[in-house]
Amino acid sequence: MSISENLQQITSSLPQGVTLVAVSKTKPNEAILEAYTWGQRVFGENKVQEMTQKWEALPKDIQWHMIGHVQTNKVKYMAPYVALIHGVDSLKLLQEINKQAKKVNRTIPCLLQVHIAEEDTKFGFDADELRALANDPAVLEMEHVAIKGLMGMATFTEDTAQIRREFSGLKALYDSLTGVLPDMEILSMGMSGDYEMAMEEGSTMIRIGSSIFGARN
Ligand SMILES: *Cc1c(COP(=O)(O)O)cnc(C)c1O
Repeated sequence: MSISENLQQITSSLPQGVTLVAVSKTKPNEAILEAYTWGQRVFGENKVQEMTQKWEALPKDIQWHMIGHVQTNKVKYMAPYVALIHGVDSLKLLQEINKQAKKVNRTIPCLLQVHIAEEDTKFGFDADELRALANDPAVLEMEHVAIKGLMGMATFTEDTAQIRREFSGLKALYDSLTGVLPDMEILSMGMSGDYEMAMEEGSTMIRIGSSIFGARN
């Protein structure tokens, strides 16, 4: 199926209030333009340099989401244009985003990445760290970042009960923070293999790559 047929099929099944991020990492500008021509405006990338090259080359009404791990020294390159940073996984990174956003006179929307998978991964906060961060006066004082919500990735497994458990755990955590952080409105969870389950568990933003653009090399 073509990119536009894939988009048609996925978006026709989305409940209201769920945003589709078309994950275009490693894919050429032509593929992005096909999705753009169809009507898609939100795209996700996981490398700052690749995203910046695409931002320079492609229509300016595209909203670019950074979905990957971000090194602090790369924040400055995307600060002028990035629409949402999904993978904020440390206070240090949040501080750097705040600093670079200030320089370009912006408030950058961010999601805190939560470590929900049972498998070992280096990135993301656990529940206790998240609560500490949400109550940290230093965080509440940052004027150039807006913490819009949480992002998580489930374990890569065939065990659907486990995936569902991880998603519902993230949703509970999200709900518990909505009274603490003022701008919470986005729960980013679900990829090509598990987005239907993620939506059933309360996702408001799904990040889909291969089911739109085909497998990556
Ligand atoms: C690559 C990636 C996706 C999309 O994965 P697909 O399985 O191709 O849909 C979603 N989220 C993150 C964080 C990614 O790195």
